[in-house]
Amino acid sequence: MGAQQRQLARRQSYARGYGRANSQRQIEAARRRRRKRSYAAKMLCAAAAALVVFACIFFVHLDVSALEVQQSQGISSSIESESDWRLVLVNDAHPMDPYKPDLTQLRYGEAVDSRCYLDLQRMFDDMRAAGLDPKVNSSYRSRQQQQKVLDETIASYMADGLSRSSAREKALKTVAEPGTSEHETGLAIDVTSESQGSDDKEDVWNWMVEHSWEYGWILRYPAGKEHITGIDNEPWHFRYVGAEAARAMHERGQCLEEYLGQA
Ligand SMILES: [Zn+2]
Repeated sequence: MGAQQRQLARRQSYARGYGRANSQRQIEAARRRRRKRSYAAKMLCAAAAALVVFACIFFVHLDVSALEVQQSQGISSSIESESDWRLVLVNDAHPMDPYKPDLTQLRYGEAVDSRCYLDLQRMFDDMRAAGLDPKVNSSYRSRQQQQKVLDETIASYMADGLSRSSAREKALKTVAEPGTSEHETGLAIDVTSESQGSDDKEDVWNWMVEHSWEYGWILRYPAGKEHITGIDNEPWHFRYVGAEAARAMHERGQCLEEYLGQA
């Protein structure tokens, strides 16, 4: 018997001896191992299933998020093109939410939306070069300021003896209800002349009727359009709409409501 065979025989007898003696324990241990293995397999399956579910939720969610982003981009870009900030329509039928534009201060405590400032400045420079003396009399008004103007106008009519309701009715003929005034956009100006002389004012207004469209501004409430704008002729009130729209409205003889198809 070689050394290797002897060793093998020793191992076998060793295993048999202990095997018999410990057979019960070994069976128990084998069962425990099987149970452990099957438990581990179950855990593995559960983990895999959880992973699949999680992945599904994640990808579906990702897909929805991407869709939402696409949708919101689609909506915002269509809003952007449909309602260009320059073409915002504010009137009785289209009240606006309180909104504070980025403002550029003018003289006399007035201010306009910074985006229309350069075109306003260009227009006033050219008017002054033409020998006129334009002045912005009223421009951006916050919701509170618009309310104050209305309240003060009502109070002045009441001081003249009108009842509150009649005073309010009368005030609303010249002062817009807060939320319906273009002045809250920062894109509207009331223009007069520095001298306040009536001829000088007329000269400024006439020049602007003829030329303001070249700078992106329009006479907002012209005579003959009262039935559309709902506002009496206001020769002093100009509105920024941008060069393209101002040119089109000038050429077609349209007011803003007509231009926007809202007449
Ligand atoms: Zn005005």
